[in-house]
Amino acid sequence: MSRLAVVCGGSRGIGEVVSRLLAERGCRVAVVSRNQEAAQAAVASLHGADHQAFSCDVSKEQQVQETFERIQKTCGNISYLVNSAGINRDALLLRMRPEDMVAVLHTNLLGSMLTCRAALRSMLRTQGAAIVNIGSVVGLKGNAGQCAYSASKAGLEGFTRSLAKEVASRNIRVNLLAPGFIHTDMTAGLREEAGARSIPLGRFGTPEEIAQAALFLLEASYVTGQVLVVDGGLQLAM
Ligand code: NDP
Repeated sequence: MSRLAVVCGGSRGIGEVVSRLLAERGCRVAVVSRNQEAAQAAVASLHGADHQAFSCDVSKEQQVQETFERIQKTCGNISYLVNSAGINRDALLLRMRPEDMVAVLHTNLLGSMLTCRAALRSMLRTQGAAIVNIGSVVGLKGNAGQCAYSASKAGLEGFTRSLAKEVASRNIRVNLLAPGFIHTDMTAGLREEAGARSIPLGRFGTPEEIAQAALFLLEASYVTGQVLVVDGGLQLAM
């Protein structure tokens, strides 16, 4: 049977394109997002059959546990997990509401930890399983106005390296992909002309450029515990 890939945050943006590329490579894809209709619409647009949509808030432990049990039951063992579910609530720390800090940390960091935990037992039963967490270049460098978001993404780096050590002996690989500015709903409010001046390649990236890198990490059988920065050179200028 073909490999099963679970893409959290697969209904829109980077995750949607990751789902599309995985389906084109012959994987069955389980698309996870809070909005069931959006996840279903994403599934309907995928190449091939046997893809499924699941509604789940990754920041809620019980929902994650139940969703991964349903995935296992209806789709089988998981080969690939991509954690692309994420939110930003950007503001200077002094103006940031504590509930927004909690929402960002719970979705971006705790959410990825919960989905990895829920997927691992299933992944132990497949050959060459791999996880890609989506971090951010601001998790590596910091950014004014993004204290909670960058903390969540920096946390993902430590989490990814630690989990990679925990599961390497079981031949499960875990890597972090750190994009710069990418054209999605998340950056829709930003003016590219202003932001692009600080990017050596002079433009925002596309979700396809990030999805290609995610596929590379899923298939790179001798790469684990690494951070792959895909940012048009932004990090060089930060
Ligand atoms: P989008 O806003 O386009 O998509 C976010 C996806 O995550 C949607 O499918 C959304 O679906 C899902 N999602 C959000 N919260 C939850 C939740 N609690 N539970 C389950 N699903 C959730 O974002 P991007 O594609 O731009 O971002 C994808 C990842 O890449 C994020 O982790 C982001 O931080 C990271 N990133 C993005 C960059 C960019 O410039 N765009 C730069 C660097 C990193 P729904 O709303 O239905 O739940």
